[in-house]
Amino acid sequence: MIKVDRQLMLLVLALVLCLSIVAVSAVSSIPMAAGNFGSHLESQDIPALNYHKVDNYHHALSIPPGEFEEQIKYLHDNGYHSINPDDLVANIKYGNALPDKPILITFDDGYADNYSNAYPILKKYNFTATIFIITNMVGKDPRFVTWEQVREMQESGFVFASHTVNHLPLTNLPADQIENELVQSRDEITQQLGVTPKYFAYPTGAYNLQIEDIVRKAGYTAAFTIRYGQDGPKSDLYALERIPIFKSQQTFRSFFIRLNGAPLLERFGAIRN
Ligand SMILES: [Zn+2]
Repeated sequence: MIKVDRQLMLLVLALVLCLSIVAVSAVSSIPMAAGNFGSHLESQDIPALNYHKVDNYHHALSIPPGEFEEQIKYLHDNGYHSINPDDLVANIKYGNALPDKPILITFDDGYADNYSNAYPILKKYNFTATIFIITNMVGKDPRFVTWEQVREMQESGFVFASHTVNHLPLTNLPADQIENELVQSRDEITQQLGVTPKYFAYPTGAYNLQIEDIVRKAGYTAAFTIRYGQDGPKSDLYALERIPIFKSQQTFRSFFIRLNGAPLLERFGAIRN
């Protein structure tokens, strides 16, 4: 769970809005034709949004479907293109070209509403997402997706990745148990989907350098945290940052600020975990 210093947020709000207006007008004056893939994208910082639930529960992790659609429509109307983690990593490691305004949309935990509520909205606006699933929950607990639903979304271009077997904070576990969580979830996903997952998200965001090393040795290509920020050439592939999106009094405004203000908020450390 992210704790946002709300007072500080308010203080930086005016600054961010002013500067983002300047930034938007500066960026919009640069000719960026669709399909203009070029080396200028090499140093680009890429936003990776992090959602959990899309439903009407009164929970910080729940975004109501109407508000979720407002956000996805905003991305669509403003020229964003969803990418997958392969695209992100190839850009970070090799500077491979990306579409204009790339964005990685991720969900943690694999709740059933990802299929019933988020998936139809994402399809409607031609976006895909990456979903980090807890293998002991899939198809066993009705709050979570089933393997049939996972396969259907996979066929639509969604990527499924590991969020361990049991969703225990890894910093509390001995090394051999961490390894089991990583390897068993990877093997279960491989068996169910016919594709070995390459990506991982730390349950509750808890990680350290030793855990990063175990993730790397377990064969994962990259791992995502819940630290606020964008991903670029300076990112640690085993501690990739994301932009967590939560429900708030003004969810869209919070979404807008977190997305558009990310470079500034990151620099000033205005949002901490
Ligand atoms: Zn989680």
